[in-house]
Amino acid sequence: MTAHDWFIEHRMDYATGTLERDEGATFEAHLDKCEECRREVSQIEQDLRWLPMGLPPAVPHPGLKRRIAQDVFGERAPSFRRWLLPSALAASVLLALGGWWAGQRKLALLESEMTALRIRSAALADTLSVMRGAARILQASLQVGDQRGGLVIFADESTHRWNVVVHGLPPAPAGTRYQFWFICADGMVRGSAIPGGGSLPTMFTTGMPPRGGAVLGAALTMEPMDADSGPPRGKTLVHLML
Ligand SMILES: [Zn+2]
Repeated sequence: MTAHDWFIEHRMDYATGTLERDEGATFEAHLDKCEECRREVSQIEQDLRWLPMGLPPAVPHPGLKRRIAQDVFGERAPSFRRWLLPSALAASVLLALGGWWAGQRKLALLESEMTALRIRSAALADTLSVMRGAARILQASLQVGDQRGGLVIFADESTHRWNVVVHGLPPAPAGTRYQFWFICADGMVRGSAIPGGGSLPTMFTTGMPPRGGAVLGAALTMEPMDADSGPPRGKTLVHLML
């Protein structure tokens, strides 16, 4: 393993902001000098930006080939807005993102390989049951000024936790901040405040709110800075129903 392999292996971690602080600084310093890593990281960031519009996710663990073959030759997800992941994946949004990204690359290779072999086996049918796990992904695009971004929710329906990814949010306009909401049967329930700006997506994991009744969806608004209680008062950027 050369010194550079470390950077190659950690591009995804850097792009998703999950490196330790000093590792992140090391990576940053390397980016100044390495065009290849700059290009790859920017490619990853671009991939993440378009994640919601991407292909069904694939994960690099045993069964990957079969699952991808299913995607290539079998039933495609019926909608780009919702698709299914094994529940184990939902435990880690990062794993899902990393797997999706790795899967995209493997998909290209496997596509030609599999097409040449013209494999379509009934054995693939069981892979779909794996993908019909407990999690699903919801997404919506958003726009602030000229900037486009998106909100992706990885909902684990067995643990009732969500991994939420917000990407492409510019810094909040002066006097405002971004606020995540649960749309509940009894009204809007305040979730996390979301930082804007920065080139990396914001990710957080949240349980369901303790009050407000059944969770029916989620929203992202741009709230006046002084609004820290009560219903939303600002502009709605995302309104997403389950
Ligand atoms: Zn490099």
